[in-house]
Amino acid sequence: MTDKLPLFIGGKFVQSESNEVLPVTDPATQEVLIDVPYATPDEVDTAVENAKSAYLSWRETPLPERGRLMLRYQDLLKARQEDLARILSRETGKTFADAKGDVWRGIEVVEQASQITSLMMGETAENVAGGIDTYSYLQPLGVCAGITPFNFPAMIPLWMFPMAIACGNSFVLKPSEQDPMTPNKLAELFSEAGAPDGLLQVIHGGKDQVEAVITHPDVKAVSFVGSVPVARHVYRTATSHLKRVQAMAGAKNHMVVLPDANKDQMISSLVGASCGAAGQRCMAISVSLFVGEAAAWIPDVRDALAAVKPGVWDDADADYGPQISPAARDRVLSFIQRGKEEGASCELDGSDCTVEGYPNGNWVGPTLFTKVTPEMSIYTEEIFGPVLLAAEVASLEDAIAMINANPFGNGTSIFTSNGGAARKFQHEIDVGQVGINVPIPVPLPFFSFTGWRDSFYGDQHAYGKQAVRFFTETKTVIARWFDAGPASDANMTIGLR
Ligand code: NAD
Repeated sequence: MTDKLPLFIGGKFVQSESNEVLPVTDPATQEVLIDVPYATPDEVDTAVENAKSAYLSWRETPLPERGRLMLRYQDLLKARQEDLARILSRETGKTFADAKGDVWRGIEVVEQASQITSLMMGETAENVAGGIDTYSYLQPLGVCAGITPFNFPAMIPLWMFPMAIACGNSFVLKPSEQDPMTPNKLAELFSEAGAPDGLLQVIHGGKDQVEAVITHPDVKAVSFVGSVPVARHVYRTATSHLKRVQAMAGAKNHMVVLPDANKDQMISSLVGASCGAAGQRCMAISVSLFVGEAAAWIPDVRDALAAVKPGVWDDADADYGPQISPAARDRVLSFIQRGKEEGASCELDGSDCTVEGYPNGNWVGPTLFTKVTPEMSIYTEEIFGPVLLAAEVASLEDAIAMINANPFGNGTSIFTSNGGAARKFQHEIDVGQVGINVPIPVPLPFFSFTGWRDSFYGDQHAYGKQAVRFFTETKTVIARWFDAGPASDANMTIGLR
């Protein structure tokens, strides 16, 4: 019988009473690694109850002590980075090097959370009126919740709970049911780092468990990352239950190539950014726009893509792994079929990809479509596979217009050696994260992850200073101290004096 993954409630791993389970499989072999249970409504309630009572003492814990917990946690995560990456590789199929990167980008956020002493500083102004000073504090909200996608099972949970908890909140995490073993390990290490019981809960499941968490009366804020339809649903549902919500969603990221770009750097960047992690990144480049004579480089991009090899996680020569599930692979294959039917030119077709020794893996080979036009569904929808689209445009203005007309605004990049063109692009583009000769512009955590338009619903973004704002309330104090003496007259106006 397959083992059942425990929930993490009240600082302990506990077995769910639920008989409803989903197998977690190795995407390269379909071997069942463990069963993940769908937590019962009572278990969700118990998790929130534990978080609520842990919050009451945690909010009184001095800031430096909260920062020190994060210092110990990041130290432990670094020491166990390879153990975590091994679990992560097994359940996602990511190459070991990429899995270590997934963990590392999360560790960076924990490092940032350890700086909470200065991040939580408010504002002050003396003498705003006669003898009156004003100052503000940031105070935690209470129980916060996070719902995470499959594609970064270490990094994205670590975008959320370390910042929320450093701010003085407690947290309930509902990770993706497709790769829940890594988040459980993150919780175990958090406890080992000295986190008080109940500060972090991990409950497992899918739609029903998400619904229970985001409508729970004791949950104050919801951080969500996932696909557009689910992000919209979670945003609408949770805000209608008066929660504070940030919902990071899907994407279609473009790279613009000008004829004065460094060709070799551009090609290697484009190949890595389109096929890395099997194209299962919200910041993957899925569309390349070649301006004018730069179109002459498309055959070289094709040749470079053709040399990219999928493989299993512990094959050091593999460039990327399988799709997360057979359903995800079939979805990507159906887009490749649709691209052909819609009239795009398939210059490289990864539909029949095989990897020796792994006949059951969810493989898709690198794929390139040229002659792509904006009305094609391969252009309008997020494919989330190693499929690169290429289109030719006459000018930088045309490239900017095409990107701005696309509903997504997560990331974009330009490859050029012309500072003026780059400046025009960064200024006029309607996208929240811009790379200049950088293919995947994911900001480090002292900035925030600022996707726009259909790639984000809410106002305060993940990590950085915006996360501190998201996970806190501002309390403003207006103070006056009286000297002995006669009272002033009653003030009948709204003005301070
Ligand atoms: P998904 O939307 O299927 O699932 C995300 C989470 O929502 C999971 O925890 C899942 O259990 C839950 N969920 C699924 N269906 C639900 C429903 N009907 N109601 C309530 N909850 C539900 O996403 P995924 O396939 O796991 O992840 C890939 C997607 O995430 C891509 O679209 C990708 O672009 C996006 N993503 C965005 C960012 C970003 O920062 N913008 C980062 C990573 C991934």
